[in-house]
Amino acid sequence: MADKRDYYEVLGVDKGASEEEIKKAYKKMAKKYHPDLHPDDPDAAEKFKEVNEAASVLSDSDKRSRYDQFGHAGVDGSMGGGGGFGGFEDFGFGGFSDIFDSIFGGGGGRKADPNRPRRGEDISADITISFEEAAFGVEKDVTVNRRDECSVCHGTGAAAGSTPKTCPTCHGTGQVRTVQNTPLGQMQSVRPCHQCHGEGTIIEQPCSACNGNGFVRKKHTIKVSVPAGMADGNTLRVSGEGHCGAKGGPSGDLYVQTFVRPHELFERVNDDVYADEDITYAQAALGDQIRVPTLDGDVSFEIPSGTQNGAVFRLKGKGIPHLRGKGRGDHRIKVRVVIPSDLTEDQKDLLRAFDKTLSDKNYVKSAKKAEKSHKNFFDKMKDAFSGNR
Ligand SMILES: [Zn+2]
Ligand SMILES: [Zn+2]
Repeated sequence: MADKRDYYEVLGVDKGASEEEIKKAYKKMAKKYHPDLHPDDPDAAEKFKEVNEAASVLSDSDKRSRYDQFGHAGVDGSMGGGGGFGGFEDFGFGGFSDIFDSIFGGGGGRKADPNRPRRGEDISADITISFEEAAFGVEKDVTVNRRDECSVCHGTGAAAGSTPKTCPTCHGTGQVRTVQNTPLGQMQSVRPCHQCHGEGTIIEQPCSACNGNGFVRKKHTIKVSVPAGMADGNTLRVSGEGHCGAKGGPSGDLYVQTFVRPHELFERVNDDVYADEDITYAQAALGDQIRVPTLDGDVSFEIPSGTQNGAVFRLKGKGIPHLRGKGRGDHRIKVRVVIPSDLTEDQKDLLRAFDKTLSDKNYVKSAKKAEKSHKNFFDKMKDAFSGNR
């Protein structure tokens, strides 16, 4: 392993910290980085490992004094990869209190009991849904290939009529201790038992249905209920649909990542829907009643007279339902004034004649309006993008 951090620093305590302080600091740090709380964060897993390692040394007065004297070199031998508590795999399963007990628990004898129930691993899948499905919720089938407890041996891995035997090498503890002589004195190291691979038991007659594994791989179609308001990239947790546990432990969870297909008319910003609406020059100047598409279908909307290109109007509560809590975002209509082209000579004459009738008076208010509406729109966009998504 590369440069290791100082164990006191890892736990955030000073060198004179009492046993009680170390215990407290460990509890805090282990909770912070526990992999159950950060299932997809390898960084947290590393930190968690580091915290456990630091605590295992500093909570043991013997190891602590060796560490104080010799630094990492004084304790590395007993930490060997995969042993007792160095093996991170051990922590993937047991609950938080298991780990805590394994370090501070009385007697120290129940470290990594191979027969403790172990929670199954989490699995992940993804689904793609439409813009509307994300807005209003949908039920989707997800196919997963996961480990199920073998129904023939009920997870023991032993053939019918036989039971797993206690391993004669480790006497069921799943680990063996070896004593090594080193320049720093005798060092004890704990490793997983090679005969039973840390299981504590040996299967003499393997179950033929699962080859002694205790589990079988099976495809499942799981109905996933996507709630209204899901956003692209959000993840759903489906409790208990992950790999099966071992020794009576619970199954892991299924995490479903959601991808949302873009909509041809609508754009989503947080829970607001934005849509462009083309209107004519005359509609903008005179005002008009138009139909605009929203998530709820076409609704009628009154374009006020003197509407400027780029003006944004809000239809309150016509946006995406909030994923958490009640209510919905808004639908925002962004007006685009379409300028006519390919005019005939007659049309040009009419327009010129009309234009001549206009004076500054017709434009002063309009210019102000346009400025205000632009400002509003960009402020809103800025707010939307700087806010939490
Ligand atoms: Zn079986
Ligand atoms: Zn063994």
